Amino acid sequence: MITVRDVFEGNKRHVEGDTGELYAAHLKGQAPTLCVVYCSDSRENIHIISDIEPKMGEIFAIENAGNVVDGSVSAVGAVMYCLTHLKTKELLVLGHTGCGAVTAVFGDYKADRECISEHIKVLENVRRIALHVVSQMEGRDISIDEIANSDKYLSLASEINVDYQCEFVKLMLEREGIEGVNVVGAMHDLHGIYGSNNGGLYLTFGSGDDPDVKRKLVDYGSGRTVRDVMDELDVCFYSLE
Ligand SMILES: [Zn+2]
Repeated sequence: MITVRDVFEGNKRHVEGDTGELYAAHLKGQAPTLCVVYCSDSRENIHIISDIEPKMGEIFAIENAGNVVDGSVSAVGAVMYCLTHLKTKELLVLGHTGCGAVTAVFGDYKADRECISEHIKVLENVRRIALHVVSQMEGRDISIDEIANSDKYLSLASEINVDYQCEFVKLMLEREGIEGVNVVGAMHDLHGIYGSNNGGLYLTFGSGDDPDVKRKLVDYGSGRTVRDVMDELDVCFYSLE
């Protein structure tokens, strides 16, 4: 069990063990090579799941419940600051199976405290797109409750959320005239829904050649993207309304 005390005691060891080189190399500013948006869920840790040793100054991280960008003023500001001012050229939006925030928008989230429900509300576009896409995939009208009670459908909705947030950032970049940013979306498969192993990372949006990595649960049909589905449904991004 980790506590605040552990953090402060660890910091003492950190300061005592520093030779001066670490901070000397980073005092003038930051130039992260990767911007990551991922969920606040305590099981989501970019360093652990990627087996990358944490290093100062490399990753610009934005964490919130549901890895949202659209509709979150702080997330939009942080992402765009990183991609425009710091000129970071890669963005990864990382969702995960069993996401509580995505699950919440398919439930009675409005009964929760306003401060929480106002955050979940920004996922309503994702709920609308997911209802439409799942209904198309199944060939019948799927209800909100059916999605809420299906781990597979909820994972699919989380994947749609990733694609949706990626499309939003791409549109923001287009509007700002920013080119050359590689926007990638992926799902962290905590529950082994995409593959037989727990913990696999699967590319769902953007470039990638590895067929084992590039696996999607969502088929938008006929080569359509999530933005095509949004156009059909006349869904607008919250922050651009
Ligand atoms: Zn989550």
